Amino acid sequence: MQKFIYSLPLLSFFFLFSCGGSSETATETKDSTETLDLKTTWEIEAFADVQVLSYEIPGFDSLTVKQKTLVYYLYEAGLSGRDMIWDQNYRYNLQIRNALENIVRNYAGDKSSDDWNKFMVYTKRVWFSNGIHHHYSMDKFLPEFSKDYFQTLLSETSTTLDSVIITAMFDPTIDMKRVSQDTKSDLITSSAMNFYGEGVTEKDVENFYKEKMENGGDKPIEFGLNSKLVKNPDGTLTEQVWKVGGMYSEAITEVVYWLKKAQGVAENDKQAKALGLLVEYYETGDLQKWSEYNIAWAEATEGDIDYIQGFVEVYGDPMHMRGTYESIVQLKDFEASARMKTLEENVQWFEDNSSIMDEHKKKNVVGVTYKVVNVAGESGDASPSTPIGVNLPNANWIRTLHGSKSVSLGNLVEAYDNAGGDGLLEEFANDAEEIDLAKQHSKLAAKLHTAMHEVIGHASGQINQGIGTPKETLKSYASCLEEARADLVALYFIMDPKVVELGLMESLDVGKAEYDGYIRNALVVQLRRIEPGRDVEEAHMRNRQLVANWALEKGAKDKVIERIERDGKSYYNITDYDKLRILFGELLREIQRITSEGDYNAGKNLVEKYGVKVDTALHTQVLERSKSLNIPPYNGFVNPILIPVMDKDGNITDVKVSQPESFEAQMLTYADKYGFLAKTK
Ligand code: ZN
Repeated sequence: MQKFIYSLPLLSFFFLFSCGGSSETATETKDSTETLDLKTTWEIEAFADVQVLSYEIPGFDSLTVKQKTLVYYLYEAGLSGRDMIWDQNYRYNLQIRNALENIVRNYAGDKSSDDWNKFMVYTKRVWFSNGIHHHYSMDKFLPEFSKDYFQTLLSETSTTLDSVIITAMFDPTIDMKRVSQDTKSDLITSSAMNFYGEGVTEKDVENFYKEKMENGGDKPIEFGLNSKLVKNPDGTLTEQVWKVGGMYSEAITEVVYWLKKAQGVAENDKQAKALGLLVEYYETGDLQKWSEYNIAWAEATEGDIDYIQGFVEVYGDPMHMRGTYESIVQLKDFEASARMKTLEENVQWFEDNSSIMDEHKKKNVVGVTYKVVNVAGESGDASPSTPIGVNLPNANWIRTLHGSKSVSLGNLVEAYDNAGGDGLLEEFANDAEEIDLAKQHSKLAAKLHTAMHEVIGHASGQINQGIGTPKETLKSYASCLEEARADLVALYFIMDPKVVELGLMESLDVGKAEYDGYIRNALVVQLRRIEPGRDVEEAHMRNRQLVANWALEKGAKDKVIERIERDGKSYYNITDYDKLRILFGELLREIQRITSEGDYNAGKNLVEKYGVKVDTALHTQVLERSKSLNIPPYNGFVNPILIPVMDKDGNITDVKVSQPESFEAQMLTYADKYGFLAKTK
C-alpha cells in the first residue's frame, strides 16, 4: 500500500515529506488572483483537533461535456458507497449516525447551551471520522456531554437508540480502539472494527487463509479483501462477501448503477474495459476479477479523467487483509502538465547550463515524468480526511508486470498549503517585504520548485564509470543527498532569467520568494514538526536544513543570510539573492561530485555537519511560537457539489460546480442522498 497522507505519520502512509508531498508538490489553478480571492472560503470550520477545508476543481471547465459527465458519474458512484466505510469501521456507527442526525435535524430546544455545543462538536467529530473512533489515532472519542443530556435529546426528538449502543458511546471500557496494534492481546478481539464476526480470533483467520495463501501461486489474489469473516454456530468460518446480492448489496448496487453509466461515456476503450471489469467484480465478488480489473486500470493510462474505487487499503484491519471502501475522482492538472512539458523540452539546456562539472553532465538528458491531478470528489476512506497522493495498485506482482500509477493530488495539497499558511508566514517572516513577496509569488514559486525538482533535478547529472549507484556508495545518506541535489537544481535555476524567457514566471521575484520561503522553512518553520530533544531525521527535512545551513555558513562573511533577533524571536533575512544563488550552485557542484564519485565520507560529513543537529534554544522558541498560532493538527475536506444540467430529454448538457454551505449541510445531504445502508438500520 502506498498512500501519502498529509500531516499524519501513520504506518507506511507515505506523507508530507516525500517527493510529491507538501511544498514539493506542484498544483494548479487558473490564475493567481482568482485563488487569492477564494482563499477565504478554504477554511470552512474548525472543531476539536481538526479543520475542514473546501477545494476547487481547476481545469474542470475546460473538459468536454462528455468528460464532465464521466466525472459526474464516477463522483456519484463514489458517494453511493459511502455508508460502507461507516459499517466497516464499527458495527454501531450507522445507528449512532442516524440518531445524531435525527437530533440535529429535529431538536427544537436551546441551541446556545454549552451542552448543545458539545453535542455538535461530538457529532462533527463522528462525521469527520466516519464513526466514533478518531480517524487517525483510532481511539474512541467520548462525548463531553452527559448521558442524561443525550437521553433528553433523544426523547425530545423522538429518536430511538438501543441502550447497548448508548452504553458503547459513553463507556470508556468498551471498544476503545478501532484497530489495535497491541500484539500482547488478540488483535481482532481487542479491535472494534467490524471486519470479523463475534468470536473470530487471529488464529482462526490464519488457519482459514493459510492453505489458500500457500496455493496462491505467483499471482495471488488479495485474500479476504472484500468480505467480513464470521463464525458459524458449528465453529466453521464463512466469508460474507461485499457484492451485489451479498453484504452491502444496497450500496454496491447503486455504485454499480453509476459505474455502468460511466463506462458508457468512457474516454477510450481501455478505460471502458477497466470500468466493465470493476462492475463484474462488484457483481460477482470474485477477487480474480479484482486482479484483472487492477491490471486493466494500471494499463489505462490515456485520457484526462481517472479514479480510484473499491475496497483498497487494508489499514483498517489489524490483520491487514480487508479493504476499506474508498473513492477518488481525478482529472489531469492541465497547467502543471504544460509546465512540466516546457521543462522537459528544455531539459538539455538546463543540464548544459548547470553549475556542475562538465564531466558530470549528461549528454542526452531525459526529463523525469511526474503526474499531478486535481480531485473532483472523494468518498469513504479518502474523505473527509484525505491522502495527498496515491500510488496503486497494491498487489506487487501487478505493479511489476503491468505497472502502477502514482499521482499527487494537486488541488488538495494547495488547499492544505494555504490553510493556516498566512499565520505561519506572518509569525516567521522577517519583515513586511518578505510577507508581500510571499503572498504574491509563493504559490507559483512552490509549484515551479516542485516541477523543476522533479523534471530536471532528479534527471540531472551522471555517475562516473565503474562507480556504483548512490544507494550502494552513499548508503544511508543517499536519499538525503539525492533530494538535496534535486532541490539545488531547482533553487539554482529558479533565479535564472531563462525561466522568465520560457514564460514559466513573470519575473525573478518568484525566485526571490522561493529563496525566502526555502530558508525560512529549512532553518525555522520545519522545526515545529520535530519533537523536543530529537534530531532531524527525515531525508527531505535533512536536505533542506543541510542546504540552508551550508549557505548560511559559507555566506557568513558577506552576510548573505543574516540572523536577526527581535523581541526574543529569531528571524533569517536574505540580503543578497544573487550571491545566494552562486552559493547554491557551488553546493550543487559539490553534491553532484559526491554522487558521481560515490564519495561516502564527504557526503556523510555534509549531512552530519549541516543536516542533522538542531539548535535547541531555537527549536524550543519555534515550538512556542507555533503553539500560539493554534493550527489544528488534522485537516479534511468537504467536496465540491457537482450538479448536472439536463435538456428536456434528460441528456446532460453541462455539469456545474458549487460549494456546500457548511460541513454540516454536506453531511446531512449525504445521509439523505446516499444513506443506502443507514436506511436499513
Ligand atoms: Zn525528490
